[in-house]
Amino acid sequence: MAVCWFSLFLCFGFLFGLLECSIGDRDPIYRNCVEQCVEMGNIGTVSIAHCKFPPDGANVNSSWYMQEPLYVQWKHLNCISECRYHCMMQREKEREAQGQSPVKYHGKWPFKRVFVFQEPVSAAFSALNLLMHFIGWLSFFILVHYKLPLRPQSKRTYYEYTGLWHIYGLLSMNAWFWSAIFHTLDFNLTEKFDYSSAVALLGYSVILSTLRVFNVKDEASRVMYAAPILAFVTTHILYLNFYELDYGWNMKVCLVMGFAQLIMWSVWAGITRHPARLKLWTVVFGCALAMLLEIYDFPPYQGYVDAHALWHFSTIPLTYLWWSFIKDDAVYRTSAQIRKLK
Ligand SMILES: [Zn+2]
Repeated sequence: MAVCWFSLFLCFGFLFGLLECSIGDRDPIYRNCVEQCVEMGNIGTVSIAHCKFPPDGANVNSSWYMQEPLYVQWKHLNCISECRYHCMMQREKEREAQGQSPVKYHGKWPFKRVFVFQEPVSAAFSALNLLMHFIGWLSFFILVHYKLPLRPQSKRTYYEYTGLWHIYGLLSMNAWFWSAIFHTLDFNLTEKFDYSSAVALLGYSVILSTLRVFNVKDEASRVMYAAPILAFVTTHILYLNFYELDYGWNMKVCLVMGFAQLIMWSVWAGITRHPARLKLWTVVFGCALAMLLEIYDFPPYQGYVDAHALWHFSTIPLTYLWWSFIKDDAVYRTSAQIRKLK
């Protein structure tokens, strides 16, 4: 459950994150500043080492064997991002002095950097989410494999969803790992890893939710159901990465997958006699509240904490509760199985 919202907003994030034109970067003063900075290699007293190129270096539109070496391209990318950052900070200072409120640049709020961290608070909260998933998954692992009784012959767990939750744990940790990296360093490659992991997690959790809610235990039915969804999600990820990064289409896909899970879990939470249904309700409700943060998008407080960072914070306790529900489910199903066999 927590996952559906989490990934849903990663998808939203991409949409807003990459609308290249924001109010801030349409400002001619800012544009001039970046242009001059790239050319001269400095802004006022700040000198930008990445912008110092050797003379007659650039040959942009020639064939592949005439192109700049990779390190020069890398230097050029760094030069642009450094110039954008310093010009943005300078422009924001001027705007603040005139009593104007912050605006977005290239789809993002003006964040203050800390060392290499572009959005230090969101990155730190993503790392904490990763940690929560690790702790949750580890305690689940210990519970099902060591604390609860195992089937006498096969030594396998009584709980029918053990393997499925293990994969879920790994995919979640992977997604939060890339989220932390993406908030640290935002460029093309980290962004691709970030949304690919989020879409993979979202697609997988559609399968998992359906199997759990409808209590599908038969191996053949599980495969029959999962195969087309897996095929679709894989194709979707390949399409985004290697064919066309269509943000609008990606958001539609994410919305459908996210709401499908949300509806399934909330209807099930309403009718089930499950002993941990209160936890499920809290997660559903908590996610809905957290969603408001993502809709109500405000500029970063003191240049650090914005709505997105708070949203990443709010999923930390929800993740704890979610794994707690999963563990309760394992205990509940195991005892039901044993009772049935007696
Ligand atoms: Zn994020």
